Amino acid sequence: MCGVFGIYNSDSAAMDTFYGLYALQHRGQEGAGIVAADYDETKKKAQFRIVKNFGLVAEVFRDERVLETLKGRAAIGHNRYSTMGSAKTPQNVQPFLVTYKSGHLALGHNGNLTNEKPLRQKLIEDGVIFQATSDSEIILHLIARSKATTVVEQVYDALTQVQGAFSLVILTDDALIAARDPLGFRPLSLGIRENKDKHGKKTPPAYVVASETCAFDIISAKYKREILPGEIVVIDKETVRTGETKSVFLPKSERKARCIFEYVYFSRPDSVIFGESVDKVRRKLGKNLSHEGGLKPKDDEKYVTVISVPDSSNTAALGFVTESNKQGNAARLELGLIRNHYVGRTFIQPGEHERGLKVRSKYNIVRGVLKGRRIVVVDDSIVRGTTSKMLVQLLREAHPKEIHLRISSPPITNPCFYGMDFPTKDHLIANQLGGDIEKIREELGVDSLVYLSMKGLLASVPKYEDEKGSYCTACFSGAHPLPIEEVSTEKEKNDE
Ligand code: SF4
Repeated sequence: MCGVFGIYNSDSAAMDTFYGLYALQHRGQEGAGIVAADYDETKKKAQFRIVKNFGLVAEVFRDERVLETLKGRAAIGHNRYSTMGSAKTPQNVQPFLVTYKSGHLALGHNGNLTNEKPLRQKLIEDGVIFQATSDSEIILHLIARSKATTVVEQVYDALTQVQGAFSLVILTDDALIAARDPLGFRPLSLGIRENKDKHGKKTPPAYVVASETCAFDIISAKYKREILPGEIVVIDKETVRTGETKSVFLPKSERKARCIFEYVYFSRPDSVIFGESVDKVRRKLGKNLSHEGGLKPKDDEKYVTVISVPDSSNTAALGFVTESNKQGNAARLELGLIRNHYVGRTFIQPGEHERGLKVRSKYNIVRGVLKGRRIVVVDDSIVRGTTSKMLVQLLREAHPKEIHLRISSPPITNPCFYGMDFPTKDHLIANQLGGDIEKIREELGVDSLVYLSMKGLLASVPKYEDEKGSYCTACFSGAHPLPIEEVSTEKEKNDE
């Protein structure tokens, strides 16, 4: 989890970054920050300014005057959702900003490093003092300690030492650098935005990088291309002058490991990630799910009522209904669950009653839509199962005839070591019940339960030629694309 954004050559770099982070808010809600670089042609070094804090983007930058202090034509931003390092340590909020022998360095990171422990240990033994507990700080130290002469070479040097998932935005004294790990776990895209002077005449464009392209749309930037796995893209004055970005590539990995869960749940459907529309993939997930778990209307029914668990399952439910109708299984999509978008994080309380309240505060039922009907509920995934169980109990209050749960991904059986915040193995319902679908069905209290198969999942995502594996499916399959021995499986205890 986490969202990153960067922009170069904009009159309103900090404001653009604010809006970019706003669009990426779903990727992390614990903290947000912006670093802006004010390049001065007469001096070698730029002036860097930073604002970051705990909270949502709109909370951290509630006072517009704060954005005005972030002067400069380049900026990077970060939305944090901690998967490594404490959520309560202020030093872990990104971007990080340091000065070192080559000048300033600001960094925002999405992903988890899988060799964090030995690297940290080695750096500590070498006398490095860490301020944060997040793995991202390691990258900064490795860049700073590199013997290479140029900043880009130093970044390259550092990134050949780290393993795991990283989509990075880096701001230096004269460039915006974006980089993605050789397996390409997390998405990262490049965009471009037209600039005009005060007379309306076109001037060289602004260059933008972001975790998801929904961050381009909000600032009227256009998607140019995906930043490739292993690519380090440099955007600087030369880019503005010539219109060309420069790229260097990390040692190639024959195997790629794009996170398939980004398509299932995490990314916004209005984004393009890994070069493909999330909406398109999610519709296919729904389509394939209808092949595997479609429901025929009974003789006394005109159609089967299908509802989604909003918002992440809306698109899959659309695909499910469209395909069901094509197959002759009449289905109608209804809005049977309404989501309250204004629920804060304060409801996260332990205890059965509070958890029930949490679900009720987030969702409510539309009784008239559900009463007396056989309904299909499309959801994207089941993690612990507690929310699904409460949701089913809530739906039962509307007295539907039957509830059939359809999940647009396979059972989650493994935690994620590459940047998604899943609990440990023993907290996953599919593991607790030994992977027995019938037992999960019973536990959730539904009349039938069908998960999309791994085959159906892989049939829904784009194919790539010449790759020895294109996706990470580890949370579903247990097939980890990178060794995991050195990774802590849970955040620090003080997060609990
Ligand atoms: S384990 Fe799952 S969530 Fe993590 S990177 Fe792989 S597919 Fe994505």
